[in-house]
Amino acid sequence: MTFSYVSHLYCPRCEKTYDASKKQQLCSCGSPLLVAYDMERLTENWRPEQLHDREQSLWRYHELLPVNDPKHITSLGEGMTPLVSMDRIGQEMDIAALFMKDEGLVPTGSFKARGAAVGVSKAKELGVEELAMPTNGNAGAAWSLYAARAGITATIVMPVDAPYITRVECQIAGANLFLVNGLISDAGKIVGEEIKKRNIFDASTLKEPYRIEGKKTMGLEIAEQLDWNVPDVILYPTGGGVGLIGIYKALKELQQLGWLTGNKLPRLVAVQAEGCAPIVEAWKDGKKSSEFWPNSKTAAFGINVPKALGDFLVLDAIYQTDGCAVAVDDQTLLEEQKNVARMEGAFVCPEGAAAFAAARKLRKQGWIQSNEQVVVLNTGAGIKYPETVELDIPVLEPGDSLP
Ligand SMILES: *Cc1c(COP(=O)(O)O)cnc(C)c1O
Ligand SMILES: [Zn+2]
Repeated sequence: MTFSYVSHLYCPRCEKTYDASKKQQLCSCGSPLLVAYDMERLTENWRPEQLHDREQSLWRYHELLPVNDPKHITSLGEGMTPLVSMDRIGQEMDIAALFMKDEGLVPTGSFKARGAAVGVSKAKELGVEELAMPTNGNAGAAWSLYAARAGITATIVMPVDAPYITRVECQIAGANLFLVNGLISDAGKIVGEEIKKRNIFDASTLKEPYRIEGKKTMGLEIAEQLDWNVPDVILYPTGGGVGLIGIYKALKELQQLGWLTGNKLPRLVAVQAEGCAPIVEAWKDGKKSSEFWPNSKTAAFGINVPKALGDFLVLDAIYQTDGCAVAVDDQTLLEEQKNVARMEGAFVCPEGAAAFAAARKLRKQGWIQSNEQVVVLNTGAGIKYPETVELDIPVLEPGDSLP
């Protein structure tokens, strides 16, 4: 019995290959590395039916994940989040089959726990004792907590403006936490220098190959939950773009295994905020990579990434699937957050709200047809960001009656 069919790492830019049994960071050409599996053996040995009696977590797909020995798995039960039908708001948007993949239910309240679970587990397997990373909040929180569970020391640098709760999560987990008066790109430079000085593992977005493997399980789950019939469109709030690259990778792997019905992949949509839309600008111009977005700003903090290392992979996934990239302004996404709560009872995060607003916009433009099946990723829980909701509450004195 083979637990993982991981074979090696490869560079999607220059095709150089690397040994997956050693710690690796970027390719010598500067590109992120991706994980390859022995697809031939896997196709022979693995069947969808084998999933039936497995645990309801992302580890149900262990053959297509990089951890070789189950004893290194560091899990808090992440994954297999519900695919919730959103009939009322779907009807209002004129989308007949609108679904939300609700990542707010994952440990730590965001889908970053998927990347952390697989990334930390593999780091443990490779003998990592200390790691460091810059973050916009949620990734730092998830990696701090999973690192604590694995007995790994985490050093985290995040912008002072990152959601308050995420610092609390890092602190309670015992991480070495630093705040920077700046953006995630500034945090990245500080972490980069520390890594050069001391020999610690760089867990920055896409600078280690395994976070994406955790995030790709969203794509595996969507396909399994729809009985291997993929939807027409998947909308994803895009910062570093790891989730989108991961979903694309997952769907291609399933296609290779022959598990998908039909041979069309969903059109992948990268959703960004108007205050930080480098991927959208690049896509509009048909470019293969993006430009640094100066003075980026948005209430959807998780997608405030002015220049993503994997931008060329995000753009490629969009082009290959006939997808698109779309920007939504903060007022519109906050309005949509309210709509989703009032019509569906779901308190989605601002990033997820941006994806709902983008679905509405693309339906209006006719890019999405009313009879298409559409999946929106809600990447985190709204309760992690109470400050994005404006309150207007009357205060009563004891003995008052309601006005
Ligand atoms: C990090 C994050 C995103 C963006 O994810 P990427 O994979 O970096 O594009 C979206 N939403 C939330 C809530 C996040 O924390
Ligand atoms: Zn390379």
